[in-house]
Amino acid sequence: MEFTLVYKKEIIKNVFDFVIDAPEIAEKAKPGQFIHVLCGGRSYLRRPISICDVMDKKLVRFIFEVRGEGTKSLSNLNKGDKIDVLGPLGNGFSKDIAEDGEILLIGGGIGVFPLLNLAKEFNKTTTAILGFRTESAITITSDFVKTTKNLFITTEDGSVGCKGFVTDVLNRMVSEKKIGAIFTCGPKPMMKAVAEIANANNIPCEVSMEERMGCGVGACVTCTCNVNGKKARVCKDGPVFNAKDVNFDD
Ligand SMILES: Cc1cc2nc3c(=O)[nH]c(=O)nc-3n(C[C@H](O)[C@H](O)[C@H](O)COP(=O)(O)OP(=O)(O)OC[C@H]3O[C@@H](n4cnc5c(N)ncnc54)[C@H](O)[C@@H]3O)c2cc1C
Repeated sequence: MEFTLVYKKEIIKNVFDFVIDAPEIAEKAKPGQFIHVLCGGRSYLRRPISICDVMDKKLVRFIFEVRGEGTKSLSNLNKGDKIDVLGPLGNGFSKDIAEDGEILLIGGGIGVFPLLNLAKEFNKTTTAILGFRTESAITITSDFVKTTKNLFITTEDGSVGCKGFVTDVLNRMVSEKKIGAIFTCGPKPMMKAVAEIANANNIPCEVSMEERMGCGVGACVTCTCNVNGKKARVCKDGPVFNAKDVNFDD
């Protein structure tokens, strides 16, 4: 279906914040789900992008980094242009895994985007731990200030917030208080480390996996990852899985 691009901003170099007027998607979207976007140019396959936010039951916000041909073409669109988008797709986060205790949203790099909608659903009761390489890679932390109870930022070079990784903050928190659930999205090594801490401490944890995707609806079996020893499709069975079930090394 085609929707109109109503807002476009390059928020940091090569990272674009888009809003489309898409009530059909907005009404159904759940945190952690994604849309499949026809990017135009020479890119014939759709590209998956997480739903970052839904506003006024009709606006859908997504933020993407320019990586290759598809996202480059998408970034060339302008306000008023039409975009062909399928969605919402996939299985999102399950709020009800949360037990008593602190609810943590742990994101890294472009993985912070799907956590914003989840923060809104938890209505300022969560703590977000967001990790970036350096100051110039930091995005949408002001949105998390508005939607969470606490926000910790880590950078690898210490240019902003705590120097180090999200897991440094997580380990400290685990030793200090009861954690009720962890929801995480980001680079695979980060999610693997978060999942190991969660599993070792019996904390319910969901991870949002990212694999190269083809059809987006479960037919082509391109985007598989190892879940419970079997091939699971990120697009149809995920992208969100229980951290206990994922083999990150396969
Ligand atoms: C469920 C899901 C949600 C996503 N949400 C977002 C989001 O919110 N914001 C965002 O910026 N990106 C997101 N992505 C990643 C995004 O889909 C890719 O960056 C995009 O498809 C790249 O397309 P391209 O044509 O620009 O690059 P291509 O020319 O296809 O690839 C450029 C480079 O990126 C690598 N690459 C492409 N896709 C992936 C992938 N899925 N995983 C790892 N490496 C890849 C390629 O190997 C290549 O090196 C998500 C991916 C998935 C699976």
